Amino acid sequence: MSISDLKILSLEDNPVDAELIREKMISEKFTNLRMEVISTEKEFINRLNTNTYNLILSDYNLPQFTGLEALLIAKKICPEIPFIFVSGTVGEEMAIELLRKGASDYVLKGNLDKLPLAINRSIREVQEQKALKEAEKELRKLSQAVYQSPASIIITNINGDIEFVNPKTISLTGYTKDELIGTNPRIFNSGEIQKEVFENLWETIISGKVWTGELLNRKKNGELYWESASISPIFDENENIIHYLAINEDITEQKRLTLDLIEAKEKAEESDRLKTAFLMNISHEIRTPMNGILGFTELLKTPGLSGDKQLEFINIIKESGERMLNIINDIIDISKIESGNLDLKIEKANVNSILKDLFTFFTPESNAYNIELKVEPGLSDEESQIETDITKLKQILTNLIKNALKFTESGSVKFGYVKKENMLEFFVRDTGIGISPENKDIIFDRFVQVDMSHTRKYEGAGLGLSISKAYIELLGGEIRVESELNKGSTFYFTVPYNHSEKEQIIEKSSPMPVHFEKSINMLIAEDDASVRMYFKELLNIENLNLSFAVNGKEAVEIIKLIQEIDIVLMDLKMPIMDGFEATKQIKKIRKNLPVIAQTAYASPNDEKEAREAGCNDFITKPINYEKLFYLINKYTQN
Ligand code: ADP
Repeated sequence: MSISDLKILSLEDNPVDAELIREKMISEKFTNLRMEVISTEKEFINRLNTNTYNLILSDYNLPQFTGLEALLIAKKICPEIPFIFVSGTVGEEMAIELLRKGASDYVLKGNLDKLPLAINRSIREVQEQKALKEAEKELRKLSQAVYQSPASIIITNINGDIEFVNPKTISLTGYTKDELIGTNPRIFNSGEIQKEVFENLWETIISGKVWTGELLNRKKNGELYWESASISPIFDENENIIHYLAINEDITEQKRLTLDLIEAKEKAEESDRLKTAFLMNISHEIRTPMNGILGFTELLKTPGLSGDKQLEFINIIKESGERMLNIINDIIDISKIESGNLDLKIEKANVNSILKDLFTFFTPESNAYNIELKVEPGLSDEESQIETDITKLKQILTNLIKNALKFTESGSVKFGYVKKENMLEFFVRDTGIGISPENKDIIFDRFVQVDMSHTRKYEGAGLGLSISKAYIELLGGEIRVESELNKGSTFYFTVPYNHSEKEQIIEKSSPMPVHFEKSINMLIAEDDASVRMYFKELLNIENLNLSFAVNGKEAVEIIKLIQEIDIVLMDLKMPIMDGFEATKQIKKIRKNLPVIAQTAYASPNDEKEAREAGCNDFITKPINYEKLFYLINKYTQN
């Protein structure tokens, strides 16, 4: 405010004095001056309440009240307006008393020359005080913001020694205020950030610019944390750097999320890559036997083919079919592992007889390749009686022995087990091509083969070992391999040795019958015409009379009509009415009629559901004829 904008309230009962004051002011270039002169207390209070003045001049001796009373009133109503006494007589003591009570100054009427100076000073003082109050208010606001900031705020001197930390810094780093003040922020250094980063940081802020970046720091308890830092110099009025200010946001959580996302993305890409490789591989693996089947089926039609040739071609077709079935089984196993649908079926098993069976099974193959096959059981038959999942144990050993034979040109393949504490450690040892140290771990990953080239020598989908590993872990064991390139490999795996006392009840299939003792009427419910034809050929047995239904509904109708049906072979997936529903209805009509479910989907759920629907037994496609004969026998001949 320029002094020319003065609006003065003058308490003066003497018009002459008032005029003198006004003239004095005008002569002193107080232009645009407005001065209202009053003399009563009532008027004084009224005017003050309008609060539009920026100066009060007051005589001390007034007719109705004293200057001191006026001062007290003014300080109450508008304390910020400067109050100057202009009086004929004010003793020194009184003057001091007035100043103490809040008067800005006093000027004697005989010395009016001093008035302009007093006015200027009083008004400036008021302005300064106001500015100071504003500044204080501002400062309070700022410091509140700093104290409550969710970011860590640190102020250092120009040497980098900490002068101020806010509460967030303390809660974030775990250091106390006393530990931090006077220390260098180096205290947070985790050693994980390259020193060039700090060099660049200092260069930037020393040159007066702001540095921003991410730092991996260490808390007092040793824990690491990420912060997004903004470090800037604070200047004095001459543009000299006097402090540095660091505002740091804890971004550990975001970093972790980002890293997790990157990891997930890389994993997805890797799994995508493996799946593509797998699909290419699998399509090759399926195409090869498929070509065998289609090609040799075509060749079978050649007129005049000798009996030997026919047999040879049929064998190739059979082998190709088996190879394809293996691949499909592997894919089903892997998808069960992937979806976590793997169940254990713990039964009593005789390890020695499993090994013997495997030995018998693989002997023709090893003979054909001129590889010596040896089996080395580690316990007596009695001691080798355990409780485990027989199917899975057999499959693991089959995979390993198959690999051993596949990757061995000459020499031997030995398999067996030894008892180690409460585990059985199985081994499959070969004298084959071996595995290099860098491939020892990855061969257990799915779809991985050491030779993934298109021209690879060995067939396979790269699933056997990963399936085996998953099974072994499910059984509570571990798998590892010891190997030397070109010398051979030994795969070891463990399963818990849960010795079972009782003799294993092995469900022995009866010898393949050429006829049944009693006449049997069997109903086969099957929607697929080729499968029906297959059954007709396969079950062309004396005393076995077949009827066919093409869906569940038809099967139920036949059961209603023909009382003589002795057994039903029920497909589960059929149109119109499925096998589950048909079985339920048949069981309502003839509770004791045996129903054997047959399905191409060997999921444990299917079997459970079939048994719940009332099926007496369960057989999977492709049908193992020995088992089928055994079942027919079991349910009809007694
Ligand atoms: P597949 O045999 O179908 O390729 P596996 O998962 O059984 O798949 O094996 C993965 C890979 O591990 C094989 O492709 C082969 O490179 C390597 N491997 C497995 N067993 C042996 C072995 N006995 N000797 C040498 N290499 C082996």
